[in-house]
Amino acid sequence: CGIVGYIGQNDTKEVLLNGLEKLEYRGYDSAGIAILNDEGVNLTKVKGRIAALRESVDSSVYATMGIGHTRWATHGVPSIINAHPHQSVTGRFTLVHNGVIENYNDLKKEYLRDVNLVSDTDTEIIIQLIDQLYQKHQDTLEAFRETMSLLKGSYAIAMIDAEDHETLYVSKNKSPLLVGLGDGFNLVASDAMATLKETDQYLEIFDKEIVLVNRNFVEVQTLEGTVVERKPYTAEIDA
Ligand code: GLU
Repeated sequence: CGIVGYIGQNDTKEVLLNGLEKLEYRGYDSAGIAILNDEGVNLTKVKGRIAALRESVDSSVYATMGIGHTRWATHGVPSIINAHPHQSVTGRFTLVHNGVIENYNDLKKEYLRDVNLVSDTDTEIIIQLIDQLYQKHQDTLEAFRETMSLLKGSYAIAMIDAEDHETLYVSKNKSPLLVGLGDGFNLVASDAMATLKETDQYLEIFDKEIVLVNRNFVEVQTLEGTVVERKPYTAEIDA
């Protein structure tokens, strides 16, 4: 399983599909991508191989930001409904997640009694919670931050807000995730293999940090909101 995200100038679906192919070795049962352009979010999910995802993706849809996922089911059977990306009820927020949310049942009972959940995944709790907390904060970063502070378990997460064409919202805890830095674009991925074609410059992310990934800059924050300075490193991997 793995995640990949891209924001830049080029055809996102190609970068995402190429990245997911590089993550295939990690194992998966289903896959999906969500890309965002002026028409809104375009979502494609399949059960099975990345090759099937590539065939299902509408080649006429062009976007310069998006997120992708290969799933290894832990909560809910492998199916298109349970495949990621998952969307909030309002359709505004879209998210990919690797890992296991241990307290998803508690969160569901406490915050999401009135929400009709679509899937059987622990992941859907995260995105519905972000939407609920957005109603409270009227601020995506604050909703994302509060949600991350409530999660127990492992996660690598990338999220897009359909009203914000400049930011990928990213966080991790006990699941691998790194940022790849480019000229006019930036990426996130579960491992460097997924992005080697694009860059060899990386930024490490530590557990519970929140990372805002824009086209021209990356901002790392602590969970509490303090901005962290971090130097990139050059990866020396033979592709
Ligand atoms: N727990 C999530 C699910 O079952 C994510 C699984 C994964 O890491 O791929 O959908």
